[in-house]
Amino acid sequence: MNIHEYQAKEILAKYGVAVPKGSVAFTPDEAEEAAKCLLKNNSVCVVKAQIHAGGRGKAGGVKLAKSHQEAKQFAEAILGKKLVTHQTGAEGKEVKKVLIEEGCQIARELYLGMVVDRAKQRVVVMASQEGGVEIEEVAARSPEKILKEYIDPAVGLIPFQARKLAFGLAIDKTIVNKAVKFMTGLYQAFVDSDASMAEINPLVITKDGNIMALDAKFAFDDNGLFRHKEIHEMRDLDEEDPKEIEASRYSLNYVALDGNIGCMVNGAGLAMATMDIIKLYGGMPANFLDVGGGASKEQVTAAFKILMSDPKVKAVLINIFGGIMRCDIIAEGVIAAAKEVGVKVPLVVRLQGTNVDLGRKILSESGLNIITAEKMNEAAEKVVKAAKG
Ligand code: ADP
Ligand code: MG
Repeated sequence: MNIHEYQAKEILAKYGVAVPKGSVAFTPDEAEEAAKCLLKNNSVCVVKAQIHAGGRGKAGGVKLAKSHQEAKQFAEAILGKKLVTHQTGAEGKEVKKVLIEEGCQIARELYLGMVVDRAKQRVVVMASQEGGVEIEEVAARSPEKILKEYIDPAVGLIPFQARKLAFGLAIDKTIVNKAVKFMTGLYQAFVDSDASMAEINPLVITKDGNIMALDAKFAFDDNGLFRHKEIHEMRDLDEEDPKEIEASRYSLNYVALDGNIGCMVNGAGLAMATMDIIKLYGGMPANFLDVGGGASKEQVTAAFKILMSDPKVKAVLINIFGGIMRCDIIAEGVIAAAKEVGVKVPLVVRLQGTNVDLGRKILSESGLNIITAEKMNEAAEKVVKAAKG
């Protein structure tokens, strides 16, 4: 699960990580009020679009305002508009709220991030002097400019490691302690919240020698969310694909993709292999969907509805291995779902496993227009052909 910048900054503030003062606004009037407050002690404030995507600065989603009138105008211009950044895709994302925060006198922009490195089984802290730009770009162009520290989970981020990073970032020794406090706070927030990723880009050194998180991004491990009610409440459904929201209600592992062949598969491995073979035959999957080993009829129906509701989908492939669940039960589930939802596009079904003959018999006698396949390559070939019409 992802959250907005203003929410990430709320979490950081609780851990003593310095962030600019600010508040979130849903209307231009609220933005103006917030700006009035901030401009009492500041000459500028910043109006920032709140969407779950980066690259807002370059796309016109971050504006410096010198008066509350100007802040209101910027809010008016941004709110309700679609912001297209290099992370949103061409369709962009509608801005429903803005963060109004104090403008900061920037001396240097740095990068600080943390992710779980699965291969090393540790959290890795990454830092770079090349802040403000895409870290992926830095990693591709000059990986040596990214400093890394792996954290031993038993002891956490030790001050020595934080100081090492701070010196690597050429942070002045008079403020190294501030950097250590910043990094330790960020690490604690990361661990306490079961985060999978945290990114401060840019982390800034201000002209008056302070260290601040000017941008903040957090992603959390969905499997840990049950332990964090207050974080779960930060979920913003407006930012998520409606099909993915519906899938999560039925505990389906669904990820929307760009292609036009809907896939319903049991088991993540088989689902990956199915997507691969569709591509091998020249098609493009519209989604990844794993209904799980012991999918119920309700789950199969829900999955079917999600696939059929996607206007991009031109053909559907159901590829199920009947292990825990028998093929005849699956066939009945598919038929029930197809009758309820209707089959608007060609449907290819490939079943294998326990009671497969009975399952195929049920499908062929259903009277529904189902294309059956025995082998995986045959199924892929048929569905790719069907999608091309
Ligand atoms: P994004 O990563 O989506 O482009 P950022 O929050 O990183 O958005 O903002 C982009 C740039 O805007 C920053 O690199 C910084 O130069 C400037 N900026 C952002 N917030 C402030 C602020 N409070 N004061 C001054 N400049 C800011
Ligand atoms: Mg940024």
